Formats: sequence, structure tokens, C-alpha cells
Amino acid sequence: MTDLYRLLPEEMEQLVMDMGYQRYRADQILYPLYYKFPKDISEIKQLPKAMREELAAAGYTIGSTQEIHRVVSEDGETMKLLLNLDDDTSVETVLMQYPSTNPLGHPRSTICVSTQIGCAMGCVFCATGQMGFETNLKAEHIVSQVIHFAEILQQRGQHVTNLVFMGMGEPMANYDEMIRAVRILTHPRGFGIGQRHITISTIGITSGIDRLAEEDLQIGLAISLHAPNNNLRKQLVPTAGPNSVEEIIEAGRRYFKKTGRRVTFEYALMEGVNDSIETAMELARLLKGNGSHLNIIPINPTAGNFKRPSSGRVLKFEQILIDAGINCTVRVEKGTEISAACGQLRTDIVG
Ligand code: SAH
Ligand code: SF4
Repeated sequence: MTDLYRLLPEEMEQLVMDMGYQRYRADQILYPLYYKFPKDISEIKQLPKAMREELAAAGYTIGSTQEIHRVVSEDGETMKLLLNLDDDTSVETVLMQYPSTNPLGHPRSTICVSTQIGCAMGCVFCATGQMGFETNLKAEHIVSQVIHFAEILQQRGQHVTNLVFMGMGEPMANYDEMIRAVRILTHPRGFGIGQRHITISTIGITSGIDRLAEEDLQIGLAISLHAPNNNLRKQLVPTAGPNSVEEIIEAGRRYFKKTGRRVTFEYALMEGVNDSIETAMELARLLKGNGSHLNIIPINPTAGNFKRPSSGRVLKFEQILIDAGINCTVRVEKGTEISAACGQLRTDIVG
């Protein structure tokens, strides 16, 4: 069985030609897949009936996602779905909307996709990390998460404007499937979202960062740093071993040099753990002069015992970095009350 959402447009062309059909038939499959969302090959009416039957007989399918749970935040701007993939695993995907400043404009609609079920990195403050690693998602299952929301948005006259790979899992630990999904999602004859509208977030696997830099894509990169030195970082990211803080900063610099895209460092701020004035100053020294952006994320409550610092303390931390000339923002969290915010995605506690 092969899900048609797995195929790159070039592969779709090869497939139809191998079946003895003309090349243009590929677009008669691709267009409906990404704009009409058929649930079955028999619904792609542009294709001759014989061709639809041949595709099905050859084991091609259209993978469908079943919604098993939906939670919407009070303001209606965040929606978390638990989706059953057609291989019987379920995954969480989140939509975050930000109203347009133009009253007639479309909202920014960002989909936060998962790349794995669980995660092997074991970050102590992250609900996904605490559940351990279960499985890697296939490219088609990453694509399907986006398609599911694209259909919901289309019914409202809206569309997906941004994608962040910040759901469950470590994208670089599932590199081949992750990058296949990115290529399908950004291909003008696939889903067609702009490369600059995608951000991949990694815990700092430098080999993956270097590979991504070589892809000739304009993808945004976020690196989850969380600590300015290796000692503290190892306490928070137990598997950080192979990549030191210095190596991660260097990899970020190489990415910027190669792609011209400014790297964002993410820093989950935890009371009494990594929020001291000295830590802020150490972080400022580390990041100074490399043109990156720092995103401070006051920690969201998870199963662990970590606490979000008071807003005064968050502002103080931020101010030290700003005074040191670091480009820095505090992330406005969305979806905390429905456990859809960063680090809260964990399938077994939904519902
Ligand atoms: N594995 C990747 C992508 C998924 S996590 C990574 O770690 O970057 C996405 C972001 O959520 C990361 O910056 C991560 O550090 C952050 N995060 C995890 N748990 C969190 C929590 N409890 N509160 C706030 N942010 C958290
Ligand atoms: Fe995995 Fe990212 Fe969570 Fe760490 S923060 S456990 S890398 S999902």
C-alpha cells in the first residue's frame, strides 16, 4: 500500500507514465489532493475510471486521518486535535490563529505538526519527552496533519499560512521522512506553502542542522537551547551529550551563513533553574554578535515540577539580554488551558 500523499510531484509523474498514461495526468491527481481533499481515489473524477481502478489495484490509497478528539480554547484561536492515522497510531496536531490587523484580512493560521510519537530526547520539562519514544511518523502522516487542518480552514474560507515543526518529537531524529514532507508541502505542485513560512525546531542535533543547510531550502530554523553552558544543559536535556552548547551555536552560525535565514534560539525559562541574572549574562555572552534571535518561553506546566517564573522575573531576564544587545522576545503562549502549548503534547493524557 502506498499513500498518494507520500509522493513528490516528480514521483507522481513517474507513476502515471509507468502506468502508460500521459504526464499531465499527474496534475489531475495532485490538484485535487492538495485543494479538494478526496478521501478515496474513486473521488478523483478527473481521472478516467479505468485509471482510478488501476491505481487502487496497484495498492495506491489516499490516507485519511480520523479526528478522535478536538479541544478548542475559549477564545477559539487554538484548536488541538488528536488524529488517528490510518496505521492506527494517533498523533496530536495544533492550529494557532492570530487575528489579522486588517479587519477584512485573513488570520495567520499556523499549524504545529508532530514528526514522531513520543520523543527519545527525554527533556525533563517536556511532556512528550517524558512519555519516551514510540515511533517515527512517515512523511505522508506529517503531510496528512496539515491536510486535515487545511480542509477545516477551507470550510471557513481560510487557509494554512504557516507551519512549525514544533509538535511531538524531534524532527532531526526522523530526518528523511521530515524532509520528504517538507518537500511535498512546499512544492508548487504539491501543497505549495512558501518555504519561508515553515520553521523547523530542533533540540540541537548538529548533523541534522548541517544537512538541512545543504538542502537549498529557505526554511526557518529554531534551536532549543535552554541553557548557556553544558552542565546545566545536560540536566535539562539528558541526551545532549554529543553536541555541546558551543557546537550548537556554531551549527546555527553555519546555517545562517549558508541560507541567509536568521536562526532563533528557544529558551524555556524555569524558575530557580535557568532564570538567574548570572545565567542571563552568560547567555548574553554566548549569543552576542551572531545575529540570532532569542525566544524566551516561560515554561508551561507539565508533569514535571518545573515552575514558570513570575512575570517580573521573566522581564528582568529579558532586559539583561536586551541591554547586552541580543535580539530577544518573550513568546506569547497560546493554548495553555487546553494543554496544546509547547511541551504539553502527549497523546495519552488527552480527554
Ligand atoms: N523536539 C523539538 C521540537 C518540538 S518541542 C525541539 O525540542 O525543539 C518545541 C518547543 O517546545 C521546544 O523549544 C521545546 O523546548 C519547547 N518545550 C518543551 N516543553 C516545554 C514546556 N513544558 N514549556 C515550554 N516550552 C516547552
Ligand atoms: Fe523531544 Fe523537543 Fe520534547 Fe526535548 S523538547 S523531549 S527534543 S520534543
